[in-house]
Amino acid sequence: MQVKQYMLGKGYSWVTPYYIATGRQGDPHVMVVAGIHGKEIASIRAAEELVRLLKQQKLHISHGKLIILPVVNQKAYRKRIRGIPDLNRTFPRTKKQAASNPLSAAVFQLTQKYHPKWYLDLHEANGLSQKDPKVLGQTLISDKGNPVVPAVRRTIKRMNHSIKNTDRHFNIRLHELPGSSRTAAARILGARAVTVETCWSLPKKVRIKYHLEIVQHFLREAGLVKANGVYLSAKVKTVTP
Ligand SMILES: [Zn+2]
Repeated sequence: MQVKQYMLGKGYSWVTPYYIATGRQGDPHVMVVAGIHGKEIASIRAAEELVRLLKQQKLHISHGKLIILPVVNQKAYRKRIRGIPDLNRTFPRTKKQAASNPLSAAVFQLTQKYHPKWYLDLHEANGLSQKDPKVLGQTLISDKGNPVVPAVRRTIKRMNHSIKNTDRHFNIRLHELPGSSRTAAARILGARAVTVETCWSLPKKVRIKYHLEIVQHFLREAGLVKANGVYLSAKVKTVTP
């Protein structure tokens, strides 16, 4: 397995690295992005950890390609802010419409280039969905009718099975968010697209662990990673499923 680093937006102020891990055979492609919002730190750390695990050959991609963009909005990340404008409202809303920001345009162009079958966008949000159905903390979000929905439900079941504190259980949300990277990937590219939202009032270590585990569940669903392997967590402690 090969892991290579590339730069998105070389020469621009918003330049940011991305990584591609390639397995033996060509398909499928899976894309994982984090840091569209610069202050959602655990999602960024989880994406960085994913890159580290791949580089150290601790996580092995047997098939296809995994494209990881750990910190989309570097400027917002440096200031630990969500970002101005909110980048997740600037992605193209239709096939014919362009992104309304150069950075989201570059991210979407990269997505179009690899045309991933699976697209995961990692975020953090307020609250616990188990306690309040209006909040997005501890949810997996997809667009209504997206073919990823059964895999989302299975992933939530697997996650919740391993989370003893039921307040922290994940729930599914189904809605379109025009201008978001998820809805762009789903609507325009037909990707199995999911937004992962942890609750940022939980300890950072726990949130990173949840992100990493959820990504690994989807990598197995996609067939990129062998189903019988161990689950890797931050600091490379094995977590039994
Ligand atoms: Zn976010």
